[in-house]
Amino acid sequence: MSRENPKVAATLREPAELVARGLAPAAQLAVLEKVAERYAVAVTPDVAALIEPGNPADPIARQFVPAAEELVGTPFEQTDPIGDDAHSPVAGIVHRYPDRVLFKLVHVCAVYCRFCFRREMVGPGKASALSPAAYRDGLDYIRAHPEVWEVILTGGDPLMLSPRRLAEIMADLAAIDHVKIIRLHTRVPVADPGRVNDEMVAALKVEGAATWVALHANHAREFTSGARAACARIVNAGIPMVSQSVLLRGVNDDASTLEALMRAFVECRIKPYYLHHGDLAPGTSHLRTTLAEGQQLMRALRGRVSGLCQPEYVLDIPGGYGKAPVGPAYLQPEGSVSGANSFVMQGEPPPESRYRVVDYCGDVHTYPSEP
Ligand code: SF4
Repeated sequence: MSRENPKVAATLREPAELVARGLAPAAQLAVLEKVAERYAVAVTPDVAALIEPGNPADPIARQFVPAAEELVGTPFEQTDPIGDDAHSPVAGIVHRYPDRVLFKLVHVCAVYCRFCFRREMVGPGKASALSPAAYRDGLDYIRAHPEVWEVILTGGDPLMLSPRRLAEIMADLAAIDHVKIIRLHTRVPVADPGRVNDEMVAALKVEGAATWVALHANHAREFTSGARAACARIVNAGIPMVSQSVLLRGVNDDASTLEALMRAFVECRIKPYYLHHGDLAPGTSHLRTTLAEGQQLMRALRGRVSGLCQPEYVLDIPGGYGKAPVGPAYLQPEGSVSGANSFVMQGEPPPESRYRVVDYCGDVHTYPSEP
């Protein structure tokens, strides 16, 4: 049975509209209005159609429908959890790693994710796009830094720009000799697939630089026929796609759901790239897992799907120190692995010159540390 509801005509932006559609509990309207005063709300018709009415535990609802828990902070949460500001030399640019910059062109998105790490910066109440002067300053900064090989257009969502404007920006960036890669991070192909029309796809292609598109999706149900067709339009145009997902409690924190999500990406010719540990964004603790849970899920995933379906589990280190891979370790010096199922000897290198390596079933084997 399809879970899709009849489509609403327009994006839902008010808690009262969500209540009227049965997508949020009427008894919580007052508190949800408080949440919406602080954090933007938008549920597109395509996403609203996926939410099971009357079920706040629905994994799509948990991603997009505001919840009372968002008003509850924890001591470790921060308004700028991944430290963008610490690496922002000019407005809109984040230069954290030597060879790449983020270029944040817009502050609006098709949908507002309840766990967003930039939730204090995105939404209709913020400046909707960089001013023309700030945009020129951003371009000048990139031009003046020949080490910048890759420019990442991120959010807000760059596919909220008109195709005409996006094409101009792509051309401006590709005209800079040292910029070889332009990567766009977007939720639009799943949140509003009709927006990815031929004009938009044409805008993504540019002479002089390779375009990559990173799709953010967190549950296999987001891959509707419309979303799959939008991704196919991008890939068929010769633009490679990678994935990014966030590990979220009650959304995708079990092995079979993660497996289905990664298979959906690969079926759409999108290489799984990142599985982010939930950032310490304000009011998001109800959606975060522990790192130990994430590592356990990654171990389970390795036993279920091929390398093609394996994302890298990463943590953005608070303070702006960048991403660290935080998946489970499979290779350890002898004596340091615990909790494995069994120990299988393969040859007899002495204990001081061997590793222990864990297979996809959790069984442990030895391997010599010498060549
Ligand atoms: S689409 Fe991205 S930037 Fe926009 S709310 Fe979701 S996570 Fe945040």
